[in-house]
Amino acid sequence: MPTIEEELGRRCLLYSLLMPIMSQFVPDLEKGKGMYLMFIKSESWTPGGIVARPVLTSYYKSPYFKDRPYDPYTNYTSPNETVLCPDSYQSMYSQLLCGLCQNKEVLRVGAVFASAFIRAIRFLEKHWVLLCNDIRTGSLNPNIISDQTVRDAVKKILDKPNPYLADFIESECSKSSWQGIITRLWPNTKYVDVIVTGTMSQYIPTLDYYSNGLPLVCTMYASSECYFGVNLNPLCKPSEVSYTLIPSMCYYEFLPVNRSDEVTGSLHMPKSLNEKEQQELVELVDVKLGQEYELVVTTFAGLYRYRVGDVLRVSGFKNKAPQFNFVCRKNVVLSIDSDKTDETELQNAMKNAVTHLLPFDATVVEYTSYADTTTIPGHYVLYWELALNGATPIPPCVYEDCCLAVEESLNSVYRQGRVSDKSIGPLEIRIVEQGTFDKLMDYAISLGASINQYKAPRCVKFPPVLELLNSRVVERFFSPKCPKWVPGHKQWSNGQN
Ligand code: AMP
Repeated sequence: MPTIEEELGRRCLLYSLLMPIMSQFVPDLEKGKGMYLMFIKSESWTPGGIVARPVLTSYYKSPYFKDRPYDPYTNYTSPNETVLCPDSYQSMYSQLLCGLCQNKEVLRVGAVFASAFIRAIRFLEKHWVLLCNDIRTGSLNPNIISDQTVRDAVKKILDKPNPYLADFIESECSKSSWQGIITRLWPNTKYVDVIVTGTMSQYIPTLDYYSNGLPLVCTMYASSECYFGVNLNPLCKPSEVSYTLIPSMCYYEFLPVNRSDEVTGSLHMPKSLNEKEQQELVELVDVKLGQEYELVVTTFAGLYRYRVGDVLRVSGFKNKAPQFNFVCRKNVVLSIDSDKTDETELQNAMKNAVTHLLPFDATVVEYTSYADTTTIPGHYVLYWELALNGATPIPPCVYEDCCLAVEESLNSVYRQGRVSDKSIGPLEIRIVEQGTFDKLMDYAISLGASINQYKAPRCVKFPPVLELLNSRVVERFFSPKCPKWVPGHKQWSNGQN
């Protein structure tokens, strides 16, 4: 994405609105710190000699972040050096260590997306023994933190042995249940600041579990192309989050979307608008309550009538400023025949299917999907990584019920393909080993993805990724029968009417 110097200032303006909004709802936030997990990515150079890096890396490396004056609202437990450490392992370890050392001061915790925050909890699950050792001895394990600038910065916080804190963390982390671990280790936390709208909504149950139901706050809506808006009612339920677009961020236009028409639409979303679509564009002041739109932006950095790829729904107005729910990202589809499944539909189908796992105290911690056309007919494949907390093993018929529940939840074109046209084969669930999705993320990061902005893909096509997933499959299950489908009244035209 092209960007220009002045863009960072504009983005910081949006950031500067977040805490004043938050403090209208949660008092005394200036009296403590935020434990935010923030990461940078290494940068590369284009052949023309321009630096290329993720947007958050640009921000963290800029004076806006590094040289920010003291402000109680941007007072984080992570020293800048730990955020700016290019080694993501050392960065994560040192940020958690600093967060633990200052546990009583922490009033809010977070990361950009929910997935990054959960990854941090997993890291803590794996490394709390080492972290406790460091806190107990008041010294940093040299095998883990070798970066001298990070060591120097952390030493200012971990300045003496604290066996009392180490005992406390050890006793909490060694309990068999990690329910409420956030509120146990950071007892003054008032909310969790992570984006849980859109595809991130699947993490809500996990976050609720670890945080004992603390408010999950989605403060902003942004992208690499441009930052867009803020949530003026941050304590609302995740399902009710709406974003008010800041009109000065870019020039907004909106392409009306009728998602039920899309079944017959094209498989890939073109990035540019055709002439008809250009004429359909609606201005920010003209959007209608309840209508869904695809967001189109013209940015200061030079993108012209650019389709961001997100679908938004007008949920209300603040004075005359429209507010939008994030509906979905448009381009995620599974398609075998004429069927098309978008992200929202897949997410809903998943929600229905996982209810079958509840009696076994099992949850799906991550999932992705694949349209497998190597079989004839092709079929949908879901890769599930599970957290198994119950003692009773899950019988195969339960997984088969899950397969069927997904199929029952999918649209009628899909079910017609299964039942009548036989153009789609039975849906398959492949259970993968624990840690597979962490491997997937590591792989994406090794290819240049940003740890802050990483989102597990809801649909995969890239052969090395499929290979990675397939190499970790432990069990496979298929839908045992066809889902229900009732033929509609199809209107045939014989050309004579
Ligand atoms: P990236 O450019 O990688 O940061 O991704 C930007 C995309 O992330 C947006 O276009 C959205 O699809 C998604 N995204 C960003 N903020 C939110 C949000 N608050 N809720 C849901 N999705 C979001």
